[in-house]
Amino acid sequence: MTPDDSDTIDREALAILNRVFGYASFRGLQHSIVAHVAAGGDALVLMPTGGGKSLCYQIPALIRDGVGVVVSPLIALMQDQVDALRELGVRAAFLNSSLGAREAATVERAVAAGELDLLYVAPERLLTPRCLELLDGAKIALFAIDEAHCVSQWGHDFRPEYLQLAVLHERWPRVPRVALTATADALTRREIVAKLALESAREFVSSFDRPNIRYRIVEKVDPKRQLLDFVAGSHAGQAGIVYCASRAKVDEIAQWLSAQGIPALPYHAGLDNATRSAHQARFLREDGLVMVATIAFGMGIDKPDVRFVAHLDMPRSVEGYYQETGRAGRDGEPAEAWMAYGLADVVQQRRLIDLSEADEAYKRVSSAKLDAMLGLAETIDCRRVRLLAYFGEASGPCGNCDNCLEPPEPWDATEPARKLLSCIYRVRQASGFGFGAQHIIAVLRGQASERVRQHGHDALSTFGIGADLSETEWRAVLRQLIAQGLVAVDHARHQVLVLTDASRALLRGERTLQMRRPKADVGRRAGRGARRARGDSAAAGAQAPAGGAADAAVEALFERLREWRRTTATARGVPPYVIFHDATLRGIAERRPASLEELAAVGGVGEKKLDAYGAELIGLIGSAGP
Ligand code: ADP
Ligand code: ZN
Repeated sequence: MTPDDSDTIDREALAILNRVFGYASFRGLQHSIVAHVAAGGDALVLMPTGGGKSLCYQIPALIRDGVGVVVSPLIALMQDQVDALRELGVRAAFLNSSLGAREAATVERAVAAGELDLLYVAPERLLTPRCLELLDGAKIALFAIDEAHCVSQWGHDFRPEYLQLAVLHERWPRVPRVALTATADALTRREIVAKLALESAREFVSSFDRPNIRYRIVEKVDPKRQLLDFVAGSHAGQAGIVYCASRAKVDEIAQWLSAQGIPALPYHAGLDNATRSAHQARFLREDGLVMVATIAFGMGIDKPDVRFVAHLDMPRSVEGYYQETGRAGRDGEPAEAWMAYGLADVVQQRRLIDLSEADEAYKRVSSAKLDAMLGLAETIDCRRVRLLAYFGEASGPCGNCDNCLEPPEPWDATEPARKLLSCIYRVRQASGFGFGAQHIIAVLRGQASERVRQHGHDALSTFGIGADLSETEWRAVLRQLIAQGLVAVDHARHQVLVLTDASRALLRGERTLQMRRPKADVGRRAGRGARRARGDSAAAGAQAPAGGAADAAVEALFERLREWRRTTATARGVPPYVIFHDATLRGIAERRPASLEELAAVGGVGEKKLDAYGAELIGLIGSAGP
């Protein structure tokens, strides 16, 4: 490539970004990736969810001659992806098992005639002789292998067909290939390179930070009420996902939210296929629905305007937590990841590992992953620093997590912890067997319940030595002790608490216990939270909107624009975000463009959409009053 070529490519790439996609500038590594692939290079792209992977192959496909072939396992999404591209004026189509023979033949003819810019194909479809021959006869701009971590046999998204994709390189050695994934770890990366024969590909590793996501982890006190406060208080009318560990809980929470006036649907593997896809479709197409789900829901949900992800049960690992929370805020607008967790989560997770039939090595790995997750939940320092450090990235305090925004009070809990340990010890000594958390805490707090008296524990030296702390505080201390392995739970014997080798060091005064001072999340009330969650984007470093009146006018226009989008989307049979993203509507509401030219300057308004909706929008803004 000569410098001249690279200049031309740069100019063209930027022009397409502006004109077709309506964006002013590339984000992060996008520019280098586009330039590299457009010039014919292979690439491995690692970018977090919402980082902007699609443009990395879409723009090179538009620059290069021929059709860009996108391999993706997410058949359910192809229709929406193609709709979105067509809305932008890009000639796109897909081939997968959901098409009838007629429709497929139409697409094949378009490929053969060189009438497509982008073709989305399911891997099993691509590998059929028919499809390979079809592509033999076509000019191919590039191959994009999306969700490339599906080659990994160790991951939970493994797709055997992905292993055969190395055939692309053998068959079309001169066509550039770009593999993309949001899975960060080094092992997966090596597997992708090996299995897809990408040894000579350039690797582009982005920061995995998602600055627009605000992380919050609260102590579980009254989880339903806390969830309701969170959703109604900060995210009323917005789309979100609530993750629960079990199907029964999913059903219960979905019903309960609905009864509280928050539109919510359940999603889990126990529902029949038709119900599941109906719920998914509604979630994608309607504004402001809450999906209550097990982790069966999520892979490939690239709805850009999910404003919050809430966890009512703790994920088993930081990877899981990051993947699930990553589904919030793909459009770059402020979003929140919220989790309520408590003693029961810690006990339950430890239990799953202890009782699992897996071999020791697997248990060790699971246990280490859980420890990292617990560390994140318990930390009194910046959550984001912890998260990124887990993925090998160094960073400083973020200013957009609960610990940065409301620094927790550190607490030296060494004394209470020692009291708790001795109480566990004394009780066992007196009775010859152990007791569970509730009993131990009752003894500590000097509550002479019937059971306590029956066992004579009201006569122990530890009876009442912890009356100064509330039950919540004791549970927090115990949670911390279990999290750190200073107390174990005997799952085989009614969850009784037992001391560990590590307990002794604490009892002997050789180590201390530092933790956050427990406090219940009182929930943020409507109004304040709602404005905050939308108004201040730490990502953009934006200031909270000044002045209540101006703020209200923007808000009112934004709602009208959403209404307009809803109607337009329904009329066109596409999800609302295919028309415009929230970020674009917000930009319009804030700037109130009075001409097509001003409208075109808003991010996300490209040439085609300006043509299609410009006049209508200017009219709507004009009629909306100042
Ligand atoms: P990923 O596939 O990495 O999760 P997407 O390609 O879906 O991410 O992009 C996430 C969001 O960011 C989309 O809404 C997309 O339109 C937007 N986006 C991507 N690149 C840019 C850019 N350069 N400027 C503004 N918005 C962008
Ligand atoms: Zn922080």
